Amino acid sequence: MTTDSWINESLYPNWGQRFLVKRELARVQSDFQDIVIFESTSHGRVMVLDGVIQITEGDEFVYQEMLTHVPLLAHGAAKNVLIIGAGDGGVLRRVLQHNTVERAVMVEIDGEVIRLSKEFLPNIAGNAWTDPRADVIVGDGIDYVKRAPDASFDAIIVDSTDPIGVGEVLFTDEFYQNCARILTPRGLIVNQCGVPAMQADELRDTSLRRRKFFPHVTAYVAAVPTYVGGFMTLGWAGKDPSLTALPADTIRARAEATGILGTTHYWTPEIHAGAFNLPPYIAKHLPA
Ligand code: SAM
Repeated sequence: MTTDSWINESLYPNWGQRFLVKRELARVQSDFQDIVIFESTSHGRVMVLDGVIQITEGDEFVYQEMLTHVPLLAHGAAKNVLIIGAGDGGVLRRVLQHNTVERAVMVEIDGEVIRLSKEFLPNIAGNAWTDPRADVIVGDGIDYVKRAPDASFDAIIVDSTDPIGVGEVLFTDEFYQNCARILTPRGLIVNQCGVPAMQADELRDTSLRRRKFFPHVTAYVAAVPTYVGGFMTLGWAGKDPSLTALPADTIRARAEATGILGTTHYWTPEIHAGAFNLPPYIAKHLPA
């Protein structure tokens, strides 16, 4: 269907962005959410879930690089990585770029998101779907972490929708308690925590929850153009506070050793080290 109509994001009732649509590619009501994928005139192909912009070809690199490379390079030797959500495959692709990774388990609740991403957003995941280290499971992330063995993962990356609808369970005490149990002693968890300028409670409330089960809770930022409202925050919870204070030189050396250096378009060792220096309007939402 060819149209010059606009799609308005409906994340906020009184403010938002819109995209001029070149062509609608898919519109599916799955068992979990309304899924739309369209060709925009400004940002390439775009996926929308329940009216909220999830990913665009134009700027997905910012978010995927920061959500993936920061925790894995901070850890420095992650072999077993758990990804929750991330149905477009972008996080999986970047996790598998790390030559330390031996197993990447991805648990996405909606098989339709995976199916439609494979068909209409093939550039996001690249060859990740067929990588022998990848284990893609269609299921609820909270059920998976409930059943996973103790100390079975070095890093958990939660690339979920916001805490409304199916994503809500991924922001609960039960979820974080199980994540703490299944992480190794130096393990860590990062998760999308919204745009504090508009969703401060998402960062504040979930940081307080994570603090119950992890000794070190903080956040870092990324400037994702289509997550409107300024900095996007990525929540961080771990057991070793030194992991968020690494100097850029150490990060650079690790990126060189694991094959990441020179492959990125937003992440750099200096951006990585600097991302944990939060502006006061964001830092004030973190637990003391
Ligand atoms: N980058 C986007 C953002 O920051 O909002 C998220 C992209 S990704 C498409 C979000 C995915 O989380 C969706 O595919 C959704 O189906 C998945 N999801 C939501 N709740 C989930 C749950 N309980 N278990 C597993 N996946 C879930």
